[in-house]
Amino acid sequence: MTTMPDGPLAEEPEARPSSPEEAVLREAESVLEDVAPEAEASMDVLDSPRRLLLVHAHPDDETIGNGATMARYAASGTHVTLVTCTLGEEGEVLVPELTALAADQEDGLGQHRVGELATAMEALGVTDHRFLGGPGRFRDSGMMGLPTNDRPDCFWQADVDEAARLLVEVVREVRPQVLVTYDENGGYGHPDHIQAHRVAMRALEMAADPQVRDGEPWQVEKVYWNAIPDSWLREGMRRLREAGDETTFEGMDPEGELPMATPDELVTTAVDATDFVDAKLAAMRAHATQIAVDGPFFALSNNLGNAVWGVEHYRLVRGEVAGDRDQNGRETDLFGGLD
Ligand SMILES: [Zn+2]
Repeated sequence: MTTMPDGPLAEEPEARPSSPEEAVLREAESVLEDVAPEAEASMDVLDSPRRLLLVHAHPDDETIGNGATMARYAASGTHVTLVTCTLGEEGEVLVPELTALAADQEDGLGQHRVGELATAMEALGVTDHRFLGGPGRFRDSGMMGLPTNDRPDCFWQADVDEAARLLVEVVREVRPQVLVTYDENGGYGHPDHIQAHRVAMRALEMAADPQVRDGEPWQVEKVYWNAIPDSWLREGMRRLREAGDETTFEGMDPEGELPMATPDELVTTAVDATDFVDAKLAAMRAHATQIAVDGPFFALSNNLGNAVWGVEHYRLVRGEVAGDRDQNGRETDLFGGLD
């Protein structure tokens, strides 16, 4: 038995699961049964009055950034669609038995991550997840500045309009009222995140443009960029340091520059989905090659309580902030103000 965080997920199941995937799904099932008994029924996309589209770069980004939000909306009957732009072929492999999958060895990580993503989506109760242009259409570009950025098949080298055209198909099919993606820096400067931002923003324009052929034009009413409020990140780091943890966010100073944070005043929206934090943690475990159970994410859950993962923040860049506000004056519902 590996180390697991405290809480309901740490309970030993009656019979030993046959695989890590099965273990994750069992946990997720019990979580979703508790909080979302109606999540089972899947309907035709347009039968759901509310539709949410998320555009991400690699498998695991959706869970880290939006996992609780996705589970909450899916459970309340919103149709949640995830589009992932690459298979994450260039990622690290944190599972010792699977290191041969790495890009510089067998190069089988992408296929493996397709399975991890599927398990994670099951854990979140999300049934509609797709890869932009189909699995393997765009390859992971690797970190900024690496030679992998120059591979002609990588996402960074893709023509933005051409890639956006593929996303337009999804937008016009799903007709989401709300779209979530990254800011122009892709959150932290990874080329695939920056490219996902460009492609998503371009696809929004093209989808609404009657001159762009195939399908009915569709105007997305509210567009959000993922955000980590500056004060939220600093406070989390301070508390880890106070608890004696010097390795999580190693080399970063809670009083210094935090380039991946968004200034507090730009963060418009906080989705409280703490009821779904266990589903999010189960989905994180599903991304086993990417997220170490003894790494920062789980350290944070142990040290700061699961709530830190249950509230996810956004910056509204199209549409009006509306509906209920939290104690910080932030909007609480991505669909606020929409019928
Ligand atoms: Zn990523």
